[in-house]
Amino acid sequence: MTQIIDGKAISAQIKEELKEKVAGWKEQGVEITLAVIQVGEDPASSVYVRNKKNACAYIGIRSLAYELPEATTEEELISLIGELNGREDVNGILVQLPLPEHIGEEKVLNAIAPEKDVDGFHPQNVGALCIGKPGFVSCTPAGIIQLLKRSGIEIAGKECVVVGRSNIVGKPMALLLLRENGTVTVAHSKTADLKAVTGRADILIVAVGKPRMITAEYVKEGAVVIDVGIHRNEQNKLCGDVDYESVAEKCSAITPVPGGVGPMTIAMLMNNCVESAAMRQM
Ligand code: NDP
Repeated sequence: MTQIIDGKAISAQIKEELKEKVAGWKEQGVEITLAVIQVGEDPASSVYVRNKKNACAYIGIRSLAYELPEATTEEELISLIGELNGREDVNGILVQLPLPEHIGEEKVLNAIAPEKDVDGFHPQNVGALCIGKPGFVSCTPAGIIQLLKRSGIEIAGKECVVVGRSNIVGKPMALLLLRENGTVTVAHSKTADLKAVTGRADILIVAVGKPRMITAEYVKEGAVVIDVGIHRNEQNKLCGDVDYESVAEKCSAITPVPGGVGPMTIAMLMNNCVESAAMRQM
């Protein structure tokens, strides 16, 4: 029978563990603070920011919300980040993406001090991941590793195929699977025969950004399939990059959408906030 990987349950378990850790830090007089910056009023971003604030409150992390107007300049935003970088009481800084077009995303993300970069997007953290040094890891791929491990799925020695090579999902995902001793292939839009590549995968991670693109014919019998995509279909229902119905019949384990990868991203963000406090104590 196909194993349905329950991201809701696993993320809840991680949040409980973190809650306990944070309570332990509090007893020692250490409070963890996350600064969340949003520029403009993109409705989807507002939902993400609210969810992050709620998760902080649940775990016992203090959150500072900076809701800046759409007209905020790049200089003003970078100046705020500089101020937060210098604040002893702020452990983590998060800038909600996307930013308005007049603000350079890369410049802003690079302005965050690497030791406060809880999203794991700063080149220093990406480089650390690449050479196997400690640092913050992008939350979605880090969450997928937790999903696999906590579902009892072995990565070492497995053929792992990642479809997608974005900086926030595909590339860090490939590096993390490599760190776990998987044999990793990264496929992308220029891959010549995608079905042949994905058809080799024992573990198939799909972050392609195309609703239900990966159908059963892309998947090897008995593979583990992780669906990173989130879309709304014609009926306004959530769906992923994987055609769940057909693939679930063929694979050994699969993440649903919603309730798979999605809830893990915030749980791992919280984990990175707790780590940032732990690193400060070292
Ligand atoms: P991007 O659009 O940045 O990247 C998509 C990748 O897929 C690119 O590398 C692209 O290749 C590749 N690709 C596109 N079309 C094809 C194709 N036909 N065949 C093979 N490869 C293809 O997306 P993200 O990585 O940011 O996100 C991917 C999905 O995950 C989205 O649906 C997004 O909404 C979702 N997401 C979900 C999160 C969560 O918390 N659950 C978090 C982040 C993202 P190329 O590089 O050649 O263009």
